[in-house]
Amino acid sequence: MSDYRLDTKCVQGGYRPGNGEPRQIPIVQSTTFRYETSEAMGRLFDLEDSGYFYTRLQNPTNDLVAAKIAEMEGGTAAMLTSSGQAANFFALFNVCECGSHIVASSAIYGGTFNLIEVTMRKMGITATFVAPDCTEEELNAAFQENTRAVFGETIANPALTVLDIEKFAKAAHAHGVPLIVDNTFPTPVNCRPFEWGADIVTHSTTKYMDGHGAAVGGAIVDSGNFDWMAHADKFPGLCTPDDSYHGITYAEKFGQGGAFITKCTAQLMRDLGSIQSPQHAFYLNLGLESLHVRMPRHVENGQAVAEFLANHPKVVNVTYSGLPGDKYYDLAQKYMPKGGCGVVSFELEGGRAAAETFMKHLKLAAIETHVADARTCCLNPATSTHRQMTDEQLEAAGIPAGLVRMSCGLEDKEDLIADLAQALEAI
Ligand SMILES: *Cc1c(COP(=O)(O)O)cnc(C)c1O
Repeated sequence: MSDYRLDTKCVQGGYRPGNGEPRQIPIVQSTTFRYETSEAMGRLFDLEDSGYFYTRLQNPTNDLVAAKIAEMEGGTAAMLTSSGQAANFFALFNVCECGSHIVASSAIYGGTFNLIEVTMRKMGITATFVAPDCTEEELNAAFQENTRAVFGETIANPALTVLDIEKFAKAAHAHGVPLIVDNTFPTPVNCRPFEWGADIVTHSTTKYMDGHGAAVGGAIVDSGNFDWMAHADKFPGLCTPDDSYHGITYAEKFGQGGAFITKCTAQLMRDLGSIQSPQHAFYLNLGLESLHVRMPRHVENGQAVAEFLANHPKVVNVTYSGLPGDKYYDLAQKYMPKGGCGVVSFELEGGRAAAETFMKHLKLAAIETHVADARTCCLNPATSTHRQMTDEQLEAAGIPAGLVRMSCGLEDKEDLIADLAQALEAI
């Protein structure tokens, strides 16, 4: 599949049925797998043979879909997780342990911020957050002797900032650690972070990849480009024997292209769980089959809505990296020349009261905390997710009371604009 173009990989990557086999990927709805001899199964437990024995570690349906995502991103190996949260935790924890440190962009998903800043801190893993548009000097100054990973989001949810992947990759590599990029919003259709130096990519497949709001899930992909053995002192988990597998050294046995995902599966999935169900992997694959057709439409609708809002007198400002005046326009042009995603945010004049009226009058756009599926939805944090905060607190957090985040779906853009126009009229 690696010679085919991305659109073909979306449709047919990962699975090539043999003679008389099902055209659609089979859902292997089985927790366990049968063996003829204990010895045969023992070889799987020793990681001497590859195969299936228990779905908490691996399942054939999941592996087909993970292989497709690996092809789409241009990576060497991938795995599915039960959620995007699990994907980011596993990707980070696979190279960190108690005493490690992470450098992360401050513009990241709230759930990931809590994961790093609150939960991983309780595990003895600390973090330094840097602004995505920091200078190289500021970025380099964030590293410590115990730094083990750099983390950022290609397009941040919900800030919509664009990560300068090359800048972050250069700093990570200068300090001998991998760059992990959450590529949820652009998907590999609009950006492939490995082409710009990222080492590991993660996804909340819950968003555009599934694309229909049907199944929560995540994915981790390895570029195969990071030389763990060259930094063996930093990554003992990958470069020294694992006692729980009879002394296997992942980076030696599975090489640069296989070590990261094999360890993440054999160790973290084994011990922590969080596998995606085969049924969800099947739904995810249906989404992937049309991802290359849907993403351009999300971008087209996002761009049209952003341009309409930017010219509306009741809108104070619009954040969308496809708008020439946007702070991240140039970076977006570089990393995502075909466009980023369909999520737009804007601030209404009149703050909380205006937002309340506006949201009430929307007919087509639904009020949801979700983003990135086929149906357009909107969220006003001040009157929903962040309603405990005062206007002053919201302003300080960079979430003005009149801010609305809109995820443009796949409807006709004229209908979306008409819906916005009448809701704006009502204010
Ligand atoms: C939603 C999201 C997550 C978390 O994914 P879940 O599937 O909800 O666990 C992580 N990163 C980004 C960028 C997201 O948008």
